[in-house]
Amino acid sequence: MTFRTRYTGLIENYRDRLPVSDDTRIISLGEGNTPLIKLNNIPDLLDKKVDLYVKYEGLNPTGSFKDRGMTMAVTKAVEDGAKAIICASTGNTSASAAAYAARAGITAFVLIPDGKIAQGKLAQAMMEGAVILQVKGNFDDGMRLVKEVAKEAPVTIVNSINPYRLQGQKTAAFEIVEELGRAPDFHCLPVGNAGNITAHWIGYSEYACEKGAQATAACAHCNGVCPYATGSIVTTRPKMVGYQASGSAPFLRGEMVDDPETVATAIRIGHPQSWDHAWKVHKESGGWFDECSDEEILAAQKLLAEKEGVFCEPASATSVAGAMRDINSGKIPENSCVVCTLTGHGLKDPDTAIKQSNAPVIAVDAKLEQVKSAILENMTD
Ligand SMILES: *Cc1c(COP(=O)(O)O)cnc(C)c1O
Repeated sequence: MTFRTRYTGLIENYRDRLPVSDDTRIISLGEGNTPLIKLNNIPDLLDKKVDLYVKYEGLNPTGSFKDRGMTMAVTKAVEDGAKAIICASTGNTSASAAAYAARAGITAFVLIPDGKIAQGKLAQAMMEGAVILQVKGNFDDGMRLVKEVAKEAPVTIVNSINPYRLQGQKTAAFEIVEELGRAPDFHCLPVGNAGNITAHWIGYSEYACEKGAQATAACAHCNGVCPYATGSIVTTRPKMVGYQASGSAPFLRGEMVDDPETVATAIRIGHPQSWDHAWKVHKESGGWFDECSDEEILAAQKLLAEKEGVFCEPASATSVAGAMRDINSGKIPENSCVVCTLTGHGLKDPDTAIKQSNAPVIAVDAKLEQVKSAILENMTD
């Protein structure tokens, strides 16, 4: 007897909207279907009232949204006969590529920047059997090398320049629309290569049909798959808002940045691969780019953990840091429905978390008296 349907990943779930056939062997770890958490306590700290949600992508199988894209990219690579995949990575792409390659029984080559990778991510890639090349350079150097070597060796690139990555990642927007019963007014994301903001826009655009209730399954607007056929009526799309770390903000500078620097290592990228796509999203959605300092990013990360019990990695908190500022200033108007993507799990980067935490660790003898007085002294009302 089954009590409920087993969730088997986003490709099975959105089969009709993804480029797979009945014969495709799907490489999945059950990714997607992540919680959309309505924040309870942080909104009370803001000057204006809004409905503020976080899409907790840290709860994907390897702890970041990269799994949404990787299930598609590896599924298609295997379908096309690839024996090896390759990526440059600030950490999460390598952890995800390594896991899905292990699952598929192929080799993952990952190029990571010298020294600037969070420990959790490195541990994952090592355990999952990836061949790790530590490049004496940053992510952008690794990306350049990956593109060059893929022309000379039989490896499939699984960075977000692989179009299947964006196809997988667009499903996060589907899930949000289906859960809210509408598109949010604003969707805020941290931006590195800008693949994810692009993928979300594709997802929202496929859901929202200009033709309204007159749409038919035959109209081309939604890749031939009409959301009305499944009974959903969604005609709007959010304004897409992308936040970057100040030391690593090419979209704010209007040009590539050669020496990106930020505590949020996942978005320490100076040469975004989806540069043109992201400007198009900016224009079509009527959204904007802005930047957050490292201090603002870490403060938001801590606030999410302390006030909501949601632990994300520093890069992820950039979305909430920026959204809070834009809500307070009124740029995001009162009563808006706002979704922030939390791209990766806090456990990815324990060093940064412990370094900035001032939570007291109280040493006691193994005696009731000492434990009791420590409790009574630290009660909050
Ligand atoms: C990859 C990543 C990003 C950046 O996403 P892009 O698609 O490169 O813009 C942000 N946060 C985390 C945790 C990531 O792993």
